[in-house]
Amino acid sequence: MEDRLYTVKYNDPGDSHLDVKVSDICVQCDSYDCVRVCPANVWRESEEGVPHIAYENCLECSSCRYACSHDNVVWTYPETGAGVTFKHG
Ligand code: SF4
Ligand code: SF4
Repeated sequence: MEDRLYTVKYNDPGDSHLDVKVSDICVQCDSYDCVRVCPANVWRESEEGVPHIAYENCLECSSCRYACSHDNVVWTYPETGAGVTFKHG
């Protein structure tokens, strides 16, 4: 999987298109569904309880948005022209 991720091109949008809605909900969350479901290791557990978000590596698959059982993920597409580029074939 990691080898394949190296072939993906990202154009850093400069600002995160991902966030949490309410930090305190993450602090009390013990499932970390966002971390477990992300195929690109974008969401990472932190000692403070609010996950770190390495948004630059996001594959825009939407999994974190639906996995969070607290509906606590802010998810938008990066600005046009930024984000991930997939090559098929
Ligand atoms: S699963 Fe949702 S509530 Fe839990 S840490 Fe992730 S974003 Fe926060
Ligand atoms: S959209 Fe997909 S790749 Fe991006 S952070 Fe969410 S789960 Fe990870």
